[in-house]
Amino acid sequence: MSDYWDEKVETMDLEQMRAFQLQKLQETLKWVYERIPFYKKAFEDKGVKPEDFQSLEDLGKFPFTVKNDLRDNYPFGLCAVPMDEVVRIHASSGTTGKPITGPYTAQDLEDWSECMARTLWSNGVRKSDIIQNAYGYGLFTGGLGFHHGALKIGCAIVPTSSGLTERQLTLMNDFDVTVLGATPTYALTIAERAEKMGLDIRDLPLRIGSFGAEPWTVAIREQIEERMGIAAHETYGLTEMMGPGVSFSCPEYKLHINEDHFYSEIIDPVTEAPLPEGEQGELVLTAIQRRAMPLIRFRTKDITTLRRERCACGRTLISMDKITGRYDDMLIISGVNVFPSQIESLIMEFPEMEPHYLLRVFKKGYLDALTVEAEAKEKIYSQGRDTLDALGAKVSERIHQAIGIKVPTKIVPFNSIPRSEGKAKRVIDERGK
Ligand code: ADP
Ligand code: ZN
Repeated sequence: MSDYWDEKVETMDLEQMRAFQLQKLQETLKWVYERIPFYKKAFEDKGVKPEDFQSLEDLGKFPFTVKNDLRDNYPFGLCAVPMDEVVRIHASSGTTGKPITGPYTAQDLEDWSECMARTLWSNGVRKSDIIQNAYGYGLFTGGLGFHHGALKIGCAIVPTSSGLTERQLTLMNDFDVTVLGATPTYALTIAERAEKMGLDIRDLPLRIGSFGAEPWTVAIREQIEERMGIAAHETYGLTEMMGPGVSFSCPEYKLHINEDHFYSEIIDPVTEAPLPEGEQGELVLTAIQRRAMPLIRFRTKDITTLRRERCACGRTLISMDKITGRYDDMLIISGVNVFPSQIESLIMEFPEMEPHYLLRVFKKGYLDALTVEAEAKEKIYSQGRDTLDALGAKVSERIHQAIGIKVPTKIVPFNSIPRSEGKAKRVIDERGK
């Protein structure tokens, strides 16, 4: 059986891929210019026309699209086709601000299924697998995105959606499920509940996780792998582009981008200047084959690094690093930029700690200050408050040493931090108070 779902695309040489992208971008720029008044005006404001796009480097002359443009044009102002051709409408889960719309043509849905089939295949999923889909079904793109990818491969799908965790485990056990799709924090919730129920997931046939939809560190990945006895794979995506399936992890845990559908750039989030491969910045994506709502140079606000390196998996598709976080979630504490994921990695260095934590950010005079509330392993609590306080102090010391800021860490009671069934909320912002 092939290692690739679509070998031709996944191992295409760079020159061929660039030629393909050039052609698709030319078509798409023309498509939006002629059909979407917002883009016609945005191009005119920048003094560019679709014909000015002659090489991939020319894309830099074209305007960005930002989340607010989608909100201002809610619900269908950025839709390039008549409603007659739209067959599905998703909306973002609205982690930040108002929801945004995602319309699809039949071909867009077909392309999405194809991207998700590549994703799952690369994660190690095959036709014989039984896949439990614990991503939320509904407006959120996670559930149906996974569903259609698995359908394309021909897996047996158990469409549990998220929630009802004990039932998830009963079905996982009874049906001999081999693949779990979920957010990484929901996977942790499932693992924890199993341990409570006295069910050892490591003894079950489950062998692969396909996780995504929120930032998670390598430390969390390793923790899930250990607690579930699986390979914890990943996909990245966003409603604005399509949903999950923009990029996916290969056996080397590299995140390859489906470059024949998404053209990627990295910019400095402050100056908007383009950054070269290998430098960290904000990911900017253009959907180059979408027809209902192809966004041009969409600023994802997700912080990552692009790398064009030979991957041992044989894929030539460009790869991106694991997302450090959303630019919106970056905190500035004592002049130091901090992402929640950095704190997560440091907490996870302590074997006494659970992967459940909250960051509380508040105003201290004119400055922002941060405290960490985190849970320790259940058995540590019997050792008394002094032990817990000493553990909190050790974590704070480690954060100080690694990032250079003083962040008091409080070990809070076991199970006091809400367990996630979808995207976890890690930051409580009290600055407005
Ligand atoms: P919302 O913006 O309302 O959360 P989406 O459900 O479309 O809407 O979420 C897309 C966002 O989720 C991405 O922009 C990114 O911030 C996050 N995300 C998705 N997949 C991953 C991943 N594998 N790693 C980190 N973050 C991810
Ligand atoms: Zn690879």
